[in-house]
Amino acid sequence: MNALAATNRYFKQAVRLLGLDSKVERSLLIPFREIKVECTIPRDDGSLASFVGFRVQHDNARGPMKGGIRYHPEVDPDEVNALAQLMTWKTAIANIPYGGAKGGIGCNPRELSTSELERLTRVFTQKIHDLIGVHTDVPAPDMGTNPQTMAWILDEYSKFHGYSPAIVTGKPVDLGGSLGRDAATGRGVLYATEALLKDEGKAVSDQTYVIQGFGNVGSWTARLLFEKGGKVKAVSDITGAVVNSAGLDIPALQKHVEKTGGVKGFAGGDAIDASVILFMECDVLIPAALGGVLNKENAGEVKAKYVIEAANHPTDPDADEILAKKGVIVLPDVYANGGGVTVSYFEWVQNIQGFMWDEDKVNEELKRYMEKAYRDLKDKCKTHECNFRMGAFTLGINRVARATLLRGWEA
Ligand code: GLU
Repeated sequence: MNALAATNRYFKQAVRLLGLDSKVERSLLIPFREIKVECTIPRDDGSLASFVGFRVQHDNARGPMKGGIRYHPEVDPDEVNALAQLMTWKTAIANIPYGGAKGGIGCNPRELSTSELERLTRVFTQKIHDLIGVHTDVPAPDMGTNPQTMAWILDEYSKFHGYSPAIVTGKPVDLGGSLGRDAATGRGVLYATEALLKDEGKAVSDQTYVIQGFGNVGSWTARLLFEKGGKVKAVSDITGAVVNSAGLDIPALQKHVEKTGGVKGFAGGDAIDASVILFMECDVLIPAALGGVLNKENAGEVKAKYVIEAANHPTDPDADEILAKKGVIVLPDVYANGGGVTVSYFEWVQNIQGFMWDEDKVNEELKRYMEKAYRDLKDKCKTHECNFRMGAFTLGINRVARATLLRGWEA
C-alpha cells in the first residue's frame, strides 16, 4: 500500500474517534506547502546528472515545521507527503513546539561520491533556502543523510542569510550540534521500550530482540538494548542478516560494520536470509529500516509479542489490523521514534540560547519527554478504548486541531 494512502487511513480512523469537524479535518490533512525542485549537478567525470528534490511543509499550527531530509532511490512525492504528515503528529505527541515537514531527493547516495553529494546538497539548499528558516522550517538528517549533509546545508544557507546554526539540527557537534543527537532516535526507542515493558511487568534485560536495519537508528537501538542486558538475537541490513540465539555481541558487530560496510560476514553469528528477519521467534521485533515492510501478505507470520516501530511507517493499516487480532502490541513510529526530533528540539533551543548542555542533561530530558508522552498516550488509549496507534494519532491530531482552532482562519 502506498505510504500516503496508509497514513491517511490512520488519520481518518483517528479523526472519527475524535469526532472532529470535517472542515478542521480537511485543513489538517492538506499540506501547508509542497515544494518540488530540479537539482542538476556535474558528476565527477564531467557528465551532468539531474535529480528531483522535494520538501513538503505539512503543518505549522504549533510552531516551525520540522523534519528530516532523505536521500533514497524510492523518494517520491507521496512518500514525502506521508512522512511530513507523520512529523506533524510526531512533534505534537512529543509535545515539542513544532509542526511537521519532510524532504528528500530521489537518488542513490551509495552511488555518489562525497563531492557529488556535497554539490547535490548545495544545489538543493539554493533552491529551497527562501522557503526554510530558523522559525519556519528546520531540516534534519533522515535515511541516506547525516551530520555532514547538515553541515553543507548550514554553510550554503548561511551564504544567503548570514551564519545560522539553528537552520538545521543533527549537525556535527563542532558546528553547534547537540551532544547525544546521534544516538537520540535509538535512545528514544530504548526509553519507549522500557516504558511499555515496565507497564507489562517486564524488563529490557529479560526480553529477546530482533532488529531490521543497522543504520543510525538500528545500530544505536541494538547497542543501547545490549548495554541494558537485552539479548539481541538477530539483525539485518542491506548486505544480509546475522543470528546468534545466545545474543549478538553488538559492539563487536558495530566494529565489523565500520570495517566492512555491513553485517554480512560477521564471525560472531550465523548468516541467515534477511527476508526472514521479521518473522523470527523473539519477544520484541524492531523494524528500523524502510517503510511498508509489514503488510497484508506477511503480518500473519510475525511471531514477536511486541513490535516497536523505530522506522517510519513500517506497518501498513492492513498489517496493523492483523497484528491487533493476533494480540501483538505495536508501539507506533510517531511515538517510538520521536527521540530524534525531540533531541533536535533541544539542539535548536541550545543554538538559539547560545548555550550548550552536557550529554547527561540531554539524555535525562529525553527520558522525561518519552515517559511523559507514553503516559499521555496511555490516557488517550483509555479515553478512546483503542490501541497505541490510535492513541498516538488521536493525541497528536487533537493537539494540532486545538492549536489550529485557537489561531483561527480569519484573513
Ligand atoms: N528524520 C527524523 C525523523 O523522522 C528526525 C527529524 C528531526 O530531527 O527533525 O523523526
